[in-house]
Amino acid sequence: MIFRQLYDCVSSTYTYILADENSREALIIDPVFEQIQRDLALLRELNLELKLILDTHCHADHITAAWLLQQKTGAKIALAAAVGAQGVDIALTHGDTVGIKGVKLEVRATPGHTDGCLSYVLSDHSMVFTGDALLIRGCGRSDFQQGDAARLYHSITEQIFSLPDDCAIYPAHDYNGRTRSTVCEEKTHNPRVGGGANERDFVQYMKAMQLPHPKKIDEALPANMRSGKPEDGQLPSEPAWADIRISFAGIPEVDSEWVIQNQPSINILDVREQDETAVAALGDLYNLIHIPLSELRDRVSEVPTDKPVVTLCRSGKRSSLALGILKNAGHDKVANIRGGLLGWQHH
Ligand code: FE
Repeated sequence: MIFRQLYDCVSSTYTYILADENSREALIIDPVFEQIQRDLALLRELNLELKLILDTHCHADHITAAWLLQQKTGAKIALAAAVGAQGVDIALTHGDTVGIKGVKLEVRATPGHTDGCLSYVLSDHSMVFTGDALLIRGCGRSDFQQGDAARLYHSITEQIFSLPDDCAIYPAHDYNGRTRSTVCEEKTHNPRVGGGANERDFVQYMKAMQLPHPKKIDEALPANMRSGKPEDGQLPSEPAWADIRISFAGIPEVDSEWVIQNQPSINILDVREQDETAVAALGDLYNLIHIPLSELRDRVSEVPTDKPVVTLCRSGKRSSLALGILKNAGHDKVANIRGGLLGWQHH
């Protein structure tokens, strides 16, 4: 199985991608709206086809990317039936099995943080995605959104602690840099619910906590009840000047075909050294400027500002570094030509 853990540092949310090596089908758990470019880039670069989008619950601290990912990939959205959200294709209840070719998840209801909290257990019981029911050395709060500490205690001890001791726990959040735990570790060391704590210990602990109102709740809850569809139903705007794809490395890229078709409206900056440009002449390109990368910082004012700039080099590596130099100099419409001249020759 292909497995990736991704992090959104604004909401401290973990997103997980699970995929089957053979079928190349993928599922994603708890995707974050603002991270869709990153997640789509990783799926693309790993040659995976997203088939299923799962949320562990209706989040109060961030907006799910479920709807947006569905618009981009056609994948199905699955969520607890108990949430009652719009746009859900597969309404899940306790005991269901959900998944893709080669990766199956067992659905366990773990309410208490919210009514609709689910944990997803990998079919061989080697991993569990606990959402906010159980966090690493912590647990989700139970003081709003139908929260109920006693219910949460039963969910954790009966549905999660009943898994094998070495089952890995992957939560929806961590605020201290911890990435995974195990059932045994949490049973022993969780300061709220581990080490033999009973229901009364746990409930009193949870009642005594004084937590601030979540910052994004007023925006996140209504949006998540629509599976993350914006109120106006519109896709977020993307750069209109080019057909840009952002790589997992975070680099805005266009392909050479687009460059050839759009040549009159862009400037092409070739950042190869003098001796390289002599070898492979680009005679049929116009609006071509040549400034070697090593001189670009000093000569950046020579790059015209009337048009967007796409950068070019042999393999597309140095030209991606040039984007930062251009941006610092005030160019806002810039992109790298994916694969550089090596990619170009395929056309
Ligand atoms: Fe939550």
